[in-house]
Amino acid sequence: MKIGLVTYAPEKVDGYDIHVYYSKWSDGQACPAAKNMQNDVTCFCDAKAIREDPSIAAVSRNGSALRKNRLFNLPFDYVCPTNPQYRNKVLDYIDDLNKEDIEGVTLNLYHFPDEEFCVCPRCMELWRKSGLNWTEWRAQTITEFIKEAKAKVKGTFAVEMFPDPLMAKERFGIDFEAIAELVDYFHVPLSSRDYFTNYWVDLLTRDFIKLLKKPVVVELSGEMLTDEKASALLKTVAYLSRHDLMGTLLLVHDSENAKQIARYAVHNSEFREWLSRYEFTEMNRIVDNWAKLY
Ligand SMILES: [Zn+2]
Repeated sequence: MKIGLVTYAPEKVDGYDIHVYYSKWSDGQACPAAKNMQNDVTCFCDAKAIREDPSIAAVSRNGSALRKNRLFNLPFDYVCPTNPQYRNKVLDYIDDLNKEDIEGVTLNLYHFPDEEFCVCPRCMELWRKSGLNWTEWRAQTITEFIKEAKAKVKGTFAVEMFPDPLMAKERFGIDFEAIAELVDYFHVPLSSRDYFTNYWVDLLTRDFIKLLKKPVVVELSGEMLTDEKASALLKTVAYLSRHDLMGTLLLVHDSENAKQIARYAVHNSEFREWLSRYEFTEMNRIVDNWAKLY
């Protein structure tokens, strides 16, 4: 299993194999390309663009796809995925990234906000013309966008997803079968403030490995660490290392945050004894490697 990072800082960190940089954020911020890194692009969540023009938000019969609409429990504000100007803006950004020497592109939030979206006049017209049922039309719309994005990417191409193994197609238009043919790997974010309770990480990881027909990386949150949180996080990574994963990624603020996790693992003798006692061979190898650096 590889160990990697998802980071807000455009810098690689020794001891980690995969480096994902958040280049375009859900608040609308679009940063310059991070060289030699996998650049992660938030596609249809853009609070800034929606503030400037509220009419681009995805809509349902119960209102728009905005965090302030309490009829839904949405983590971000969503643009309608069929808006041609906004689609082109995202595709142009991906084009620009690929003029730089980057590792590749990961798409994030490239899907519909939920099953009831989007019923704007343009979407209803496109749906009617397609002759498909609601679920198939929405899935095809998202898969087509991913194909257009992929055509602009020279290097490694991956997608994140809302981590629902069962209803992804109905709710978000995410068709794992179709997308597997386009991507090099799937990036499954299992974000949490802490991993004191972690059975669900194991559970969803098993589901996704069984379901997805391409390699899988799982992302865990490693920001805002205390010693207790670091310990729970590292033990959760150790359990993940027993699965057939391409890698585990740790979400961090910056390189110091990433080094802090590695140092904590290396210098925590209780944790290292625990790894040896219960024969976490892969995790032992990762921590031994960190020990040479930190
Ligand atoms: Zn729409």
